[in-house]
Amino acid sequence: MSDPLKLVEAVRARLGPKAVLTDPADIEPWATDWRGRWHGKSVAILQPSSTEEVAAIVALASENGVPLVPQGGNSSMVGGATPPADGSALILSLRRMNRIRSIDRGAMRAVADAGVILQSLHEAALEHGLRFPLTLGAKGSATVGGLISTNAGGTQVLRFGPMRALADGIEAVLPDGTVHDGLTGLKKDNRGYSLDQLLVGAEGTLGIVTAARLKLVPAIHLRAVAWLGLSSPQKALDTLRALEADTDRIEGFEILPQESLDAALRHIPGTRAPLDSRHEWHALVEATTHGADAEPPAELLTRLLAPLVERGVVENATISATEAQAEAFWRIRDSLSEAERAAFGPATQHDISVAVEDMPLFMAEAAAEVERAFPGTSASGFGHLGDGNIHFHVRAGTRGGPDWLEQEGNAVQWLVDDLVIAAGGSISAEHGIGVMKRDELARLQPDRVRHLRAIKAALDPKGLMNPGKLV
Ligand SMILES: Cc1cc2nc3c(=O)[nH]c(=O)nc-3n(C[C@H](O)[C@H](O)[C@H](O)COP(=O)(O)OP(=O)(O)OC[C@H]3O[C@@H](n4cnc5c(N)ncnc54)[C@H](O)[C@@H]3O)c2cc1C
Repeated sequence: MSDPLKLVEAVRARLGPKAVLTDPADIEPWATDWRGRWHGKSVAILQPSSTEEVAAIVALASENGVPLVPQGGNSSMVGGATPPADGSALILSLRRMNRIRSIDRGAMRAVADAGVILQSLHEAALEHGLRFPLTLGAKGSATVGGLISTNAGGTQVLRFGPMRALADGIEAVLPDGTVHDGLTGLKKDNRGYSLDQLLVGAEGTLGIVTAARLKLVPAIHLRAVAWLGLSSPQKALDTLRALEADTDRIEGFEILPQESLDAALRHIPGTRAPLDSRHEWHALVEATTHGADAEPPAELLTRLLAPLVERGVVENATISATEAQAEAFWRIRDSLSEAERAAFGPATQHDISVAVEDMPLFMAEAAAEVERAFPGTSASGFGHLGDGNIHFHVRAGTRGGPDWLEQEGNAVQWLVDDLVIAAGGSISAEHGIGVMKRDELARLQPDRVRHLRAIKAALDPKGLMNPGKLV
């Protein structure tokens, strides 16, 4: 086995003491994942301050045969940034590379170092009257490099797409230490495979992202949030399609069943039912404007929803009158995981996607199939219907107590994943594969994994980039 301490010494000699952290107290928080599920070991954290320093480290790692685990904010939900437990690898932190290199108001583009935290990017864009249209719960920690490497999404994917759509060029150090410069701003470029796109979602297995060119949009001028009562996910989808036929200003479209709303109202302090009527399903719809001359979003939603209510597609609706009310609606949506945990006890959670149009039927059939196979459980989903991405939960119900997950969690997981793949879907709609879903992906889609491994072997023949993750 190669010696990581030799690499530590080589990096210190080349880049100076600032580039290396070796105090165990400094390393410990970064060697365990966000939720404390995976614990790794690394004798040092390497922390370069420039692309040239990353290139030097990667070249030295290649010479010494020492694996590197790239890390940004360490907010991975799948153990993607946790080093292996045997201490064979070193953490390569990009957090010192936190400079926004430029914001171009005309081109509506930012160029940011990989270690820039999402919230800092939001703030910098806003100073120019612009917005980076992706946000998520970990925005105070997640970095540009991590967002790219997990192809992160959020609640605005419906309108603006995930990182794959928002990253307009990537600079990265490839496993042999050479720098790939994709920051050139070319709108058209037909030179074969896109290395930029290969790096999106690669989870650090193909190289180290050092910077990205990112798309910006005008800052929000006004927003409004509608809360709808509906009879089914299919009616919710019909509603979304009807809205989209008339406007491109719908940013979010989230659904939840009545029982999840009840759980939030019972367990999340300060929440109030948005409607005074009960419905099998609910949807939250956000519309925005970026200029004073556009139809205000509350009026837009009122105008477009009225005929749907009249036709009975939507059973009831209310629209936020103030920003505080819009926030209150979103708070219910954002607290659903916590509310469900409190209300329903142990549950398996599946962050899955199928084609948007197939989701209503998939949700009904998968729930029925799981409840048939595991009598006493109850299955349901909530989340980003507009992206075909649902958080599908199977609750223990009357079937098991607190240790139900240990007893049957895997069996339920396999059944749900089998159903997702049979429906042409994905077992990872957000967060990536990491270590958590690696074996499951290999079980379900061996050909896909074989192809991914072939790409990895071509670019990283020594297998030094984030070993043990994804493939
Ligand atoms: C509360 C919470 C809410 C979340 N909500 C969402 C959500 O709505 N949507 C969503 O998609 N995700 C969500 N996530 C997951 C997580 O925030 C994202 O995956 C994010 O992109 C990770 O960024 P990071 O900088 O923390 O990356 P890290 O956790 O440090 O790393 C993630 C992966 O990327 C690799 N990596 C990191 N930096 C680089 C780099 N510079 N070059 C190459 N590889 C690199 C790592 O090796 C690892 O495999 C959430 C997480 C939390 C804790």
